[in-house]
Order: sequence, then C-alpha cells, then structure tokens
Amino acid sequence: MKPLLILALAGSVLAAGVVGYMVVSASVGSPAAQSATGAITPAHPGGDPETEAEVRALRERVTDLESVVMTLKSDLQGLRDSALRTPVEATPEERAQAVENAVAGTFTQAQRAAVGSVHLGMSVHSDICLPYFMRYATEEQKRRWLPGLASGELIAAIAMTEPGTGSDLAGIATSAVRKNGEYVVNGAKTFITNGINADLVITAVRTDRTERHRGLSLLIVERDTPGFQRGRNLEKIGTHAQDTAELFFDDARVPAENLLGNEGEGFAYLVSNLPQERLSIAVAAVAAAAAAVEWTVGYVRDRKAFGAPIGSFQNTRFELAEMRTEVEVGQAYVDRCVEALNAGELSAEDAAGAKWWCTELQGRVVDRCLQLHGGYGFMLEYPIARAYADARVTRIYGGSNEIMKEIVGRALNLE
Ligand SMILES: Cc1cc2nc3c(=O)[nH]c(=O)nc-3n(C[C@H](O)[C@H](O)[C@H](O)COP(=O)(O)OP(=O)(O)OC[C@H]3O[C@@H](n4cnc5c(N)ncnc54)[C@H](O)[C@@H]3O)c2cc1C
Repeated sequence: MKPLLILALAGSVLAAGVVGYMVVSASVGSPAAQSATGAITPAHPGGDPETEAEVRALRERVTDLESVVMTLKSDLQGLRDSALRTPVEATPEERAQAVENAVAGTFTQAQRAAVGSVHLGMSVHSDICLPYFMRYATEEQKRRWLPGLASGELIAAIAMTEPGTGSDLAGIATSAVRKNGEYVVNGAKTFITNGINADLVITAVRTDRTERHRGLSLLIVERDTPGFQRGRNLEKIGTHAQDTAELFFDDARVPAENLLGNEGEGFAYLVSNLPQERLSIAVAAVAAAAAAVEWTVGYVRDRKAFGAPIGSFQNTRFELAEMRTEVEVGQAYVDRCVEALNAGELSAEDAAGAKWWCTELQGRVVDRCLQLHGGYGFMLEYPIARAYADARVTRIYGGSNEIMKEIVGRALNLE
C-alpha cells in the first residue's frame, strides 16, 4: 500500500528539538528509564524491587524501551536524510513528496514509545496543514513557504475553532477586511494545536458578513504579523508534550498575497480537507490502541497474583483476546480508508465513520488495559496512564464524534 498521508519532515521535528524531547519524555517518564538512571522506583509491580529477578526484569524493559526509541529516532533521521538527499533542483512539491515514503510507520513507533502526544503536533503540520499549501497555494506562495515547511524551519498550524464556535464551523466570527493591499484581521481562536510553536497559521476568517458558508476565506498568518499575538499554552489533562494555544488578532495586518486560494472558498477548502484530517486521527487512534494492548500483554506476563501471572486468568485472556480482535478490525477499516484516500475516493462519511469508531475503540481499549494494570495503571509513571489521559481528546477534536455521526447519518438520506 502506498504510504499514507504524511508529508511532514523529520526536519521540522529535528529543528523544533522534538526528537530530543521524545527521547527525554520516553525515557524519563517511564519506570524502566528511571531504573536506567539508578533510581529504581519502589512502585514496581513485581513486589520486592531488591530481588535479582526484579532487577533483571527492569533491565529488560529498559532495553526494550530503548530499542523502540532508537527505532523512532532512526525513522526520523531517515526522514531528514530523505529530505536532504532530494536534488537541489527539485521543486518544492518534489521535495515534500520525497519524504512521504519515509514517514509511514512513525505513528505506530511513536505510540509504542509512549510519546504519541508528540506525534499530534507533527501530524497537524504534515497530514493536515501541508495539503492546504500543496493544493491551494500559488506558485509564488509555494516558493516562499514549501521549502521551509519541508526543512522544518517553518512549523504550521490551522486555526478554525473560536471561543464562541467549534462544531459549527460556518459560525466563525474572526473578521478580515481587505484594505490597501492587506487584510485587517480581528478576533480570537482557541485550542490551536502547535499554536505556540507555529510560524505559519492557516487561519479561517470571515471576509463577507452577508454570506455564511461562502463568507469564509483562509489566510496564512505569519509569526511576526503586527497585531497577531499568542495567548496561553493551555493546560490540558493529557497530550502534555504538545502545545495547544489561544491566538488573538487585534487589527492584525496580513498582506493580501497571504490569501490561500480564492476569497469566499475557505469553507469548501476546509470541508474537502477534513476527511484526511479525520482519517489521520483514526490511524493514530488504532496505533494507540495497539500499543496499549502490547504493553498490557507484557505487563500481565510479569505481574503475579495468587501465585500465578495475571495473564493466566481466563478473564485477562478474554479481555486481551477481545481487544486484539477489535484492534485488528479497526486496522482493516482504516487500511481500506487509506487506500480510498490515496485513490482520491475517500468519502466524507467513511472518514467520519473511521474517526468516531476508531477513537471510541481507542478509549475502550486503553481503559480496559489500564484496568488490567491494577493500581499501577493509575500512576503516571506507567505509559498506560498517560495513554489514558491522552486518549480522551480524540473523541472531541477534529470534529466531535457526535458531529461525525451526523455526517454518516446525513449520507443515509433519511429525511
Ligand atoms: C487538544 C485540542 C486540540 C485542538 N486542536 C485544534 C486545532 O489545531 N485547530 C482547531 O481549529 N481546533 C482545534 N481543536 C478544537 C476542536 O476541534 C473542537 O474542540 C471541537 O470541534 C468541538 O468544538 P467545541 O469545543 O466548541 O465544542 P461544541 O461545539 O461547543 O460542542 C459541545 C458538545 O456539544 C455537542 N454538539 C455540538 N453540536 C452538536 C450537534 N449538532 N448535534 C449533537 N451534538 C452536538 C458536541 O459533540 C460536544 O459534545 C482542538 C481541541 C482540543 C481539545
């Protein structure tokens, strides 16, 4: 299968120092890594951490985690190398395309290394924002921005949601009035992924108050735009490795040449790109669920109760058997959707169906896996606890699951 969606470049990750962060986050945040630095946590599940068997088990976990992190690092290095190997005469599109093949699999690696929340920022840059530049930017805009987006010198975000409107996309109120070769933008956005780190923000604005859907346009707002300010990096219950911010526009002056595509077609552009965004969320959700099952299989082999590994109890086996099957079912569906996307045939309702079903799957699986960890599952030093907190938002962002069901339901032509 052609590798999925992702056009992003390791360069962007490396430039942002994210690889360093990933390694730190994966190694410091887990009990195994703590043991690597000599501080074996007394909260280890096996009971007495002083025994030789305990120490051996911890060492094995460290080695396992390290190998996952090394694989992730080498994936990302591969991406950067592939960007660098692209001939200098390559067009910006060819450059971006060149890295596409090297990226497949990083979702899974990131989830296995328990750094899935880092991947959210990357996928917003690559799966979600980059296609807007590839599809709607003029040649001049591509020359200006694609090389930076490809090398990682520029990080992208997309700002649709506002304090007063989220699900109802056509209700966007941030206004942009064209005057003397520039747009004067006023309003606010919230919950914007990469909001703090972004250099280029694809911003949905209202350019015509008399039209609802056809009154929206997309502007590229650059980091140093006068009148453009970032608010707080919002405090969340999960995905702490990734920034989510408020953005403010107070008579922000955006050059007219930063209009993306045509004025008045912003809503249509958003609608046609959202299926890819939703599929990207579904793919990450299945990867997260698969990682949770994998960690739990390892855990129940080691952890003993009543003198036997908890994995030997029928309930544990049935739980894991059901979850493994569900993950495989989800994987088969997203694979089919990826093939449809690559063939240019992914429908809005199939993408919406993938998003709601796979994120519900993620929530169910992570919750049941946490249960099998007992009290340790509630401790943030265990990846499953962080995965539990990270999973909650996937049913909300990218369009809430209720809105996804509306999209699937509308396609049934019931009215
Ligand atoms: C961590 C995080 C990252 C995000 N990143 C981005 C980003 O990068 N860019 C961006 O633009 N946005 C982003 N968002 C915003 C996200 O897409 C919105 O939060 C989401 O679309 C829901 O909008 P809302 O929060 O305004 O909820 P509301 O629209 O107020 O909805 C509240 C509840 O009402 C339900 N509801 C609303 N309408 C209906 C209906 N017609 N029928 C049934 N139920 C309904 C919803 O399903 C939900 O349960 C992010 C959000 C989070 C939390």
